[in-house]
Amino acid sequence: MAELLIRPGHNDHVAIANLLIPEARATLASVRRPISRLVVDAHLALAYPQYREAAAEAGTPLIIDPRTDLLQVDSDPRISWRKLPYASDAAWGERIVNPFDLAALVEATVDFQVKHGASAIVSPYFYAKSPEDPAFSATLQALRMTVRHLRQVRINLPLIAVLAGSHRGFARTQTFNDGIDRFALAALDLGPQALAFALSPNGNGKDGQSKVVQLFTAAQRLKSTGATVLAWRQGFFGPALVAAGMDGYETGTGTGEKTDFSVMFGNVKPGSRDGGGGGSPWPVFFEALGRSLPGPTAQFLLEDQVARSLIVCRDERCCVHGPASMVSKDNRRQHNIRTRAKALRDIEQMPHRSWRLHQIAKDAYANTVTTMKINKILDQKTGVSGKLPTTSHEALAHVAEILSRSHSPRAA
Ligand SMILES: [Zn+2]
Repeated sequence: MAELLIRPGHNDHVAIANLLIPEARATLASVRRPISRLVVDAHLALAYPQYREAAAEAGTPLIIDPRTDLLQVDSDPRISWRKLPYASDAAWGERIVNPFDLAALVEATVDFQVKHGASAIVSPYFYAKSPEDPAFSATLQALRMTVRHLRQVRINLPLIAVLAGSHRGFARTQTFNDGIDRFALAALDLGPQALAFALSPNGNGKDGQSKVVQLFTAAQRLKSTGATVLAWRQGFFGPALVAAGMDGYETGTGTGEKTDFSVMFGNVKPGSRDGGGGGSPWPVFFEALGRSLPGPTAQFLLEDQVARSLIVCRDERCCVHGPASMVSKDNRRQHNIRTRAKALRDIEQMPHRSWRLHQIAKDAYANTVTTMKINKILDQKTGVSGKLPTTSHEALAHVAEILSRSHSPRAA
């Protein structure tokens, strides 16, 4: 079953608990839960024990992301990440390849994840610009060290290996041998539960066709190893990547829907405040647009009769009062997650990959058309600025259609 992994931000704990626990209580064996696994940033696991408690009560597996990527940059002392036992005052620089530093980091991150109730262990990982970047070898080295450490201290939890890299450095076919293949080989040797990949930047809505092809080719290359593969930090292309064969995707609850390490690094640099990931205020997810919009824009559009008819949530069990429920403080986060969960179920119900991809292509095309209509409305009315890009929807429609043909039962 395809997994929807949700990474909550600051202040999502009430919504997550409301979503996880009542659904778990009401769950019949046949009813599927909206959240397959919760992915909580280590510093949020520290700040909000509520996530761990809700996951435990609902029986939802919990992944704690150690966020060791933030060791690569100088960060503001006020950000909550700095409260982690393995956080650093300054960027690690060369320490990244020092085996003693790495070993200590492995111990500290494993210890932290176990203590905070993780049901799988994410080995420390770093963001690599290319396969030649020392950050990449450090990630592979940390993987091996993590498995050795788990054995030594007899922690019997499954391993999740994360590949965090630049799109340019890892998604082009000429990089596969030294990048994706090397990662897969190193990880699969250790028997991981899942491989997660985050290729950056991707998913801001402006990726063109050649970039989308590269992303899907890279993902399928990783999947061709037979491992369980998760699209990490990918709310935009996540459903399509599942249709193309991945086992699940992870995304935020409205913020954190794209992969962009340089934005994440920028959000923690000295002088920055502790935001919820730098996203828009109270985002609302629109299935008809394939993306979330900032709350004020969402509200503005839902007040317009034409726009409303195009993008309102029509699931009465999700949004009883339609537009009002979509933007209400008590429901919008749940709506964002439920809508994604439902879309993933719909994809899964199609028996063949070519059908799934064909459906993704049709949806992406429809999203393009709807986005253009919404842009027109935004244009006509004052008070809201900025056009919603359609580039990625168009590119995705095209790429998914090509892929669906290559996976057709009749294709040679
Ligand atoms: Zn809804």
